[in-house]
Amino acid sequence: MKLEHYIGGAHVPSVSGATFATLEPATNTEYATVAAGDAQDVEAAVAAARTAFTEGPWPRMPAAERAAVLRRIGAAIESRDDRIAAIECRDTGLPITQARGQAHRAAQNFRFFADVITTLGENVYRVASAQLNYVVRKPVGVAGLITPWNTPFMLETWKLAPALAAGCPVVLKPAEWSPLSAGLLPEIMEEAGLPTGVFNIVHGIGEEAGAALVAHPDVPVISFTGETGTGQIIMRSAAAHLKTLSMELGGKSPLVVFDDADLERALDAAVFGVFSLNGERCTASSRVLVQDTIYDTFVARLAERAARVRVGSPDDPATELGALIHPEHYARVMDYVRVGMEEGARLVAGGEPPTGLPGGNFLSATVFADVTPEMRIFQEEIFGPVVCVTPFSTEEEAVRLANATRYGLAAYLWTNDLRRTHRMTQVIEAGMLWVNSQNVRDLRTPFGGVKASGLGREGGHHSIDVYTESHIVHVATEDLPIPRFGVA
Ligand code: NAD
Repeated sequence: MKLEHYIGGAHVPSVSGATFATLEPATNTEYATVAAGDAQDVEAAVAAARTAFTEGPWPRMPAAERAAVLRRIGAAIESRDDRIAAIECRDTGLPITQARGQAHRAAQNFRFFADVITTLGENVYRVASAQLNYVVRKPVGVAGLITPWNTPFMLETWKLAPALAAGCPVVLKPAEWSPLSAGLLPEIMEEAGLPTGVFNIVHGIGEEAGAALVAHPDVPVISFTGETGTGQIIMRSAAAHLKTLSMELGGKSPLVVFDDADLERALDAAVFGVFSLNGERCTASSRVLVQDTIYDTFVARLAERAARVRVGSPDDPATELGALIHPEHYARVMDYVRVGMEEGARLVAGGEPPTGLPGGNFLSATVFADVTPEMRIFQEEIFGPVVCVTPFSTEEEAVRLANATRYGLAAYLWTNDLRRTHRMTQVIEAGMLWVNSQNVRDLRTPFGGVKASGLGREGGHHSIDVYTESHIVHVATEDLPIPRFGVA
């Protein structure tokens, strides 16, 4: 299988001729060759997008017409649901049932932003009797979209849909460990009738293709999802051109369980929250904080449930936990397992590859108990099927522990005490809080984190804000007095 860049409506190899290979996580065999872009390919893609911005119809098209194209993109994705899920499952190691859910969400992303863009109002103000001020929202220009390898197709479309809805031509740089599903996007965009040059892809390694996109002076906005450290590098580079940045970064989200909670449901949420999507999920509930009165029972039950999570081949519909993305990432996750044991945490489930699976990056659902805030496994994002459990006694202690990392993406609270719920939602440092719930939300709500978890929000009009600038126009509708200097 061979994958090339898509620039100005054409599939092209890298100018340098360079390529890289991708691996199938379930077997670690090479199965695709992908064009490895650098600054020259980015230059060509930005030039195509810039021409689409300055000369093409897309940025000037009425919102309703753009929305019609977006709806057709949604339909084109939906008609390829199974193919997208199968590619994603093979390329990322995600269980097939979960990959299907992600493909479905990708179609929804386009329909959703078609609705958003056609319902956004613009403001008109009347200043005194004879002056009208109005606000015009304009697309900012070529948008650079840089995405990670976890749920790649969903996250690519989560950025593409609002950027296109806003009227911005785009250059997408997919993650190098999971580039294949993005390979379907050109035919999807063509089928939907998106004008040529509006959608471009440059594949490649982050430090080359991604960095060149961030540094390019004709790309005024970068929407990035990935690691906090990469986000910091991007911010430094983007400062040269004062670019608009939207940053969705890492997390180490707490799930706090009080003894008055529905423990069965809290347990379901804890298991699903950290082991779904292979634990390679930014909002994973990777720290479980449990009130000391129920701690021993909860830990024992969590360990027992983790031991029953079905680890297996990603394409098996019975699999709940598939293969981690890449041997390099797998080695990192396994290193955290070693670190956890060295730090004195108590391993109560997993920690090893399951038996009976050939090759591949498999790890059983892993639970560490008695984890303390000083430990690295408490502080650092592992991004795999590993959960840390920590006891607390009072509400104050729970809050202190919940806030004790540099991250602040999500938090999950399990209690039936209404007043405590509202006290805690005021002080927990997280962009998103779920109470007695799992990670579901209306797409209009702002998604994003505080502290080292991000900058800005995506979702509904928040995403459109990233890709548009508001301009004001002042019009005098009658002759208003203008101070006359230099006439006396
Ligand atoms: P990563 O930061 O390594 O890579 C993300 C993307 O950035 C890739 O396309 C990569 O090629 C590119 N990149 C790398 N170096 C670059 C550079 N110097 N300049 C420009 N681009 C560069 O992240 P990852 O390992 O692919 O993804 C996992 C991370 O993403 C985790 O930390 C996870 O929490 C985070 N994430 C966050 C969210 C969220 O919404 N907050 C969602 C998903 C994933």
